[in-house]
Amino acid sequence: MATNRTFTMLKPDAIENGHMGKIIDMIIEAGFDIKAMKYTKLTEDQAKEFYAVHAERPFYGELVEYMTSGPIVAAILEKDNAVEDFRTLIGATNPAEAAEGTVRKLYAESIGRNAVHGSDSDENAEIEGKFHFTAAEIF
Ligand code: UDP
Ligand code: MG
Repeated sequence: MATNRTFTMLKPDAIENGHMGKIIDMIIEAGFDIKAMKYTKLTEDQAKEFYAVHAERPFYGELVEYMTSGPIVAAILEKDNAVEDFRTLIGATNPAEAAEGTVRKLYAESIGRNAVHGSDSDENAEIEGKFHFTAAEIF
């Protein structure tokens, strides 16, 4: 069942490069309601667990190192068709392939340091949201 919610993280490069406010504004302008949001930093264990699905990929070690290199913003977002619409807003994983006007086209540095995370399914949106927020932290 579609929950109309997705989960995002503004990744360390986006924060470091001063793009946090502009990306949050794009998210709001695109019609997403913020149900939960926190400025935080992932521990190594959290980053490893969050990206466990990629554990066998060659970029996993680098990904964990990067995702723990600085603060992030984690958020739960609500909108009709949230997962798909958010993936459209952020663009392709590789900014070189991302459509004009997408968050990654505008702000990502590279396929690894790509500014933002977006859940890939309703099921993962739920799992990822619960990974970062307790029920009491979700409005
Ligand atoms: N990633 C990487 N190299 C790759 C593919 C992915 O460093 O060749 C990183 C990148 O930060 C990406 C994350 O791993 O956002 C998760 O990969 P996924 O394929 O799930 O991409 P996404 O769902 O974020 O578009
Ligand atoms: Mg993914």
